[in-house]
Amino acid sequence: MTITYALIQMLEKVAEKTDRARIITKAEVFKLILNGKAVVGCEYRKAGAVHKEFGPVIFASGGFGADFGSDSLLAQYRPDLLHLPTTNGEHCTGDAIKMGEAIGATTTDLEWVQVHPTGLVKPDDPDAKVKFLAAEALRGVGGLVLDANGKRFANELGRRDYVTGEMWKSKPPFRLCLNKAAADEIIWHAKHYTGRGVMKFYESGAALAKDMGVPLQTLVDTHQAHYDAAKKTEKDPDGGKWPAYPSGKSWDEASGKTGSGKKFYHNVIDGSKVATEPFYVAIITPVIHYCMGGLECTVLGECITKAGVIPGLYVAGEAAGGIHGNNRLGGNSLLDCVVFGRVSGKAAVKYTFGAGDKFRLCPTPLELKELVK
Ligand SMILES: Cc1cc2nc3c(=O)[nH]c(=O)nc-3n(C[C@H](O)[C@H](O)[C@H](O)COP(=O)(O)OP(=O)(O)OC[C@H]3O[C@@H](n4cnc5c(N)ncnc54)[C@H](O)[C@@H]3O)c2cc1C
Repeated sequence: MTITYALIQMLEKVAEKTDRARIITKAEVFKLILNGKAVVGCEYRKAGAVHKEFGPVIFASGGFGADFGSDSLLAQYRPDLLHLPTTNGEHCTGDAIKMGEAIGATTTDLEWVQVHPTGLVKPDDPDAKVKFLAAEALRGVGGLVLDANGKRFANELGRRDYVTGEMWKSKPPFRLCLNKAAADEIIWHAKHYTGRGVMKFYESGAALAKDMGVPLQTLVDTHQAHYDAAKKTEKDPDGGKWPAYPSGKSWDEASGKTGSGKKFYHNVIDGSKVATEPFYVAIITPVIHYCMGGLECTVLGECITKAGVIPGLYVAGEAAGGIHGNNRLGGNSLLDCVVFGRVSGKAAVKYTFGAGDKFRLCPTPLELKELVK
């Protein structure tokens, strides 16, 4: 996906400047090649033909958040999520896990699949299986999440699993509403989503209430209660009666009742402004987003069986399991990709060339040394 393009630029440079790397595109790896217990290569399909490539293999094929078939990993481990849409591209079918399992590699945490609260619903295509994701920042700048009745029901700044959990208990459709100050802070996103048809601009809160089919007074009351909680927090941060997230006390009843009360407020408006306030609003829905589980591996990214390390097989990125516990925090996947991409790459090089470059047939070219410094 585009988001990881920057991460493979180094590989592109190596491929351009040396003959040490080749990038093969439009190819589907489907099988590992074994020599005894060691992985010595893989088979792949390209343009209808089957090819083989030899050497250690590092799986970096992503998660299984779009593996929806009847014999899919989601069907096996999280059948309860099969009906949900996904933010994942169609390549996310857990191929590494399946190929690894075929040679006895162990997996971990496959049942831990993250469901993100803010998949964007396109009103003219509400059942689309793949959804755009609303960036976390939309809630960070002060976006409020309302239920079908125009009421808040959660701490918008809570963890993904928490907000999603509260959505299951509340009445859809859910709306993410940004008032003018909030939208202005992130206007590029707001305009981008609006252009894509997954967000709508309302000239006033009155127009929004009409479209939602709720009394304007409900939106006024919702904003006033949120505003009051913000002002009380300013004066007396820990004086509220509700348990707050991540700690302390909250004045916010709507989220406080969930046990994860809101403590931080941004771009709040009082109820009197709502009728004439412009809003950017998106309909949101829980959406499959990330697989915490995957192939089990060592700290060097080596895949393992119950008997120990599989020589020549490594994993990095979302295909690997166990890095993020049962709930990955936003932003940490790309960090994981960089760290374990490097770790597994170095381990594979060491494995190939042996300790002290014992098996290296020719010296490393200077330009490659410069690149990997
Ligand atoms: C919409 C969206 C927004 C996100 N935003 C963030 C963010 O802001 N911060 C963050 O940290 N994380 C974010 N994530 C999560 C993060 O992007 C992914 O977890 C990460 O891209 C996984 O990287 P990867 O290299 O493991 O797999 P991927 O990026 O999924 O890449 C896997 C590659 O392997 C290829 N492939 C798959 N199977 C095969 C096969 N059999 N043969 C050959 N090739 C194959 C695919 O075509 C693809 O090119 C986001 C995810 C999504 C969907």
